[in-house]
Amino acid sequence: MNYIDPHIHMVSRTTDDYKRMALAGCELVSEPAFWAGFDRSGPEGFRDYFRQLTRVEATRAGLYGIAHKTWLCINAKEAEDVGLAREVIKLIPEFLDAPDVLGIGEIGLNKNTKNEATVFVEHLDLAARTDELVLVHTPHLADKYPGTRMILDMIRGDRRIKAERVCIDHVEEHTIRPALEAGHWVGMTLYPITKCTPARAADMVEAYGTERILVNSAGDWGHSDPLAVPEFIFEMRRRGHDEATVRKIVYENPLAFFAGCRRFSYTPRGQVV
Ligand SMILES: [Zn+2]
Repeated sequence: MNYIDPHIHMVSRTTDDYKRMALAGCELVSEPAFWAGFDRSGPEGFRDYFRQLTRVEATRAGLYGIAHKTWLCINAKEAEDVGLAREVIKLIPEFLDAPDVLGIGEIGLNKNTKNEATVFVEHLDLAARTDELVLVHTPHLADKYPGTRMILDMIRGDRRIKAERVCIDHVEEHTIRPALEAGHWVGMTLYPITKCTPARAADMVEAYGTERILVNSAGDWGHSDPLAVPEFIFEMRRRGHDEATVRKIVYENPLAFFAGCRRFSYTPRGQVV
């Protein structure tokens, strides 16, 4: 089954990963801007990173027949430095006309600090002013539930942001319901250990249905699996779910969410143009 991975950090993966993903049926990936594993020394480091995301990575993906889309922001971890974050936010508009940009993301919280919240709200303001989609990272482990509540409140606090134009990512059993009830899309991240396994994701689909639900690998430079979405497909089939149900989650849903971006255009493979 062909699939889309709506959250994966390909700049930190090898070409072998692209090849294995292509062999497994990956057609399209979307890559949010994130923490590189080290703090950049200044805003120019982000300018180079945004150039890599908007101008370079799509060519590398294209060598394996995979379409590449991207999101721009300063991640929550480096956003603790509000001065740096404001300089980076100022840079973003010059990249927003690039054809493969889907919106602002992955913004969010890391340790749920006041500075992170300040920068989150300023990113929301940029998204509202430029009418962009928003992709939201929710914190890890013990910080996840309070951080998700803070995030939902901040989004609700900006009346210009439409709920259906926001995806709350890395949801787990205790955060999926409030995010869906607020009208947002949700992303379940399939990680080998933390976040959500393919089996737990399948359990949540069985509990909450398939509307506004995405699954992703969030593959990056750490312990992660770029083939996690095919693992989810395998788990769903093993449980007897029909092909149309699985395809909706791993293919049609991400296309429906991305369609909210005015620049997004994609002809699904196999369709006559
Ligand atoms: Zn990520």
